[in-house]
Amino acid sequence: MRSVSTQTDDRVRFVTFGCKANQYDTQVLREALLRRGWRETDRESGSSADLVVINTCTVTAEAGRKARQLARRLARENPDVRIAMTGCLAESEPEILRELPGVEWVLGNGEAKRPVHFLRELGHELDPEELGIPAGITEFAGHTRAFLKIQDGCDMACAFCIIPSVRGPSRSRPAEELASEVERLLASGHREIVLCGIHIGHWGRDLGTDLGVLLERLAAVEVEGADGAPIDWRMRLSSIEATEVTGPVLEALAAHPRRIAQHLHMPMQAGDDGVLRAMNRWYDVETYLACCDRIRAVLDRPAFTADVLVGFPGEDEAAFENTLETVRRAQFSRLHVFPFSPRPGTAAAVPSTIGTECAPEDVRERRARLSEVAHELSQAFRRELVGARDTIALEGTVGLSGRYQRVRIPLEHLPARPAALVDVELALDTARAADDDEVRLLGIPARQRTGTCEQAC
Ligand code: SF4
Repeated sequence: MRSVSTQTDDRVRFVTFGCKANQYDTQVLREALLRRGWRETDRESGSSADLVVINTCTVTAEAGRKARQLARRLARENPDVRIAMTGCLAESEPEILRELPGVEWVLGNGEAKRPVHFLRELGHELDPEELGIPAGITEFAGHTRAFLKIQDGCDMACAFCIIPSVRGPSRSRPAEELASEVERLLASGHREIVLCGIHIGHWGRDLGTDLGVLLERLAAVEVEGADGAPIDWRMRLSSIEATEVTGPVLEALAAHPRRIAQHLHMPMQAGDDGVLRAMNRWYDVETYLACCDRIRAVLDRPAFTADVLVGFPGEDEAAFENTLETVRRAQFSRLHVFPFSPRPGTAAAVPSTIGTECAPEDVRERRARLSEVAHELSQAFRRELVGARDTIALEGTVGLSGRYQRVRIPLEHLPARPAALVDVELALDTARAADDDEVRLLGIPARQRTGTCEQAC
């Protein structure tokens, strides 16, 4: 990171709640403050920090509760600490946050996303050098994967979701700005770039283009490493609606199976037509499943993961059984199961206007049943991957495959020269305790399969 005039040596701590887009927003603020000479501290209590920036989330009531609780604890432990609350909760309930002890700034999404505004609040005048600083970030310190926010906001109106009202309509970042940011992140050592946002399938709509065009542009980014050879890297879509994996997007995924991870996180939310209608989702069950089939027809064993909400008002036992059945038919490799929590300001905030409220014990039981089915499916998916080729983003002897699986590489098969991405053939990992029936995967570097190692093994 290049240095600019140092105006302070105070210490700052950042705490982020919520999604990848929020983590990216934190990084923007982090880089802006570190450029001004702030030193980062990650001390658990925050007592060593002069300023704590809490970038909040409001998607669930629980996320909001945790952020408020943290602010109270920090102020109790260190009465001198100055606290800035930023992000979605600061947008949705600023008055409540302003009342918290120690909270000096409450900066909603519009304000916090402009670091210059926050810096002025902290007493830094706009540095002329700031004008030459490129948009975006340069690194995600301590991580192999870096998040790249390609758009913000959402134009939809799902009944349970507060995000459109706290982040506004969809706005896309220009492709060339994003390509330059990918180059910087690769130069900083990252080897997997996760494209994130709030509704990334809508990238480009406001610019008269589409996500497929962006994927092609980014796939073409080449950066030379210190040895003069092109850096080996890949990208991954963080989350995309199933109905938006079509045309140019699907073509880009098929054309670049190594550069674009063959993993799609496609929020399903429910597997029952009545519940989907009540949620104001724009597809029915058969449409969602047809999207899965269309993608499977083009890609080699892609991994599908999804979010599913249980206990949405009006979800009765029959509707929940339909969701279980749909989840089985979609053959997800992993599921994130969330209990419904009404958020003020959303259509579902008053459950009785949507449907009968679910009893908490029903929600708990459905969550457990769905998680059990999800576990079975993830085990089955791993078994199906045996013999498949994949690319592992390595961290030590374990890494993440393109299909979003943890894969172990046996010590004797680790590449002689350090490599961030390793092509492997997948096998079952049988090295585990006798009472452990979890299916795990092993990766044998592909080039070794045809050499002496294969004979030795
Ligand atoms: S698509 Fe629906 S759930 Fe997703 S951010 Fe937009 S409104 Fe929320």
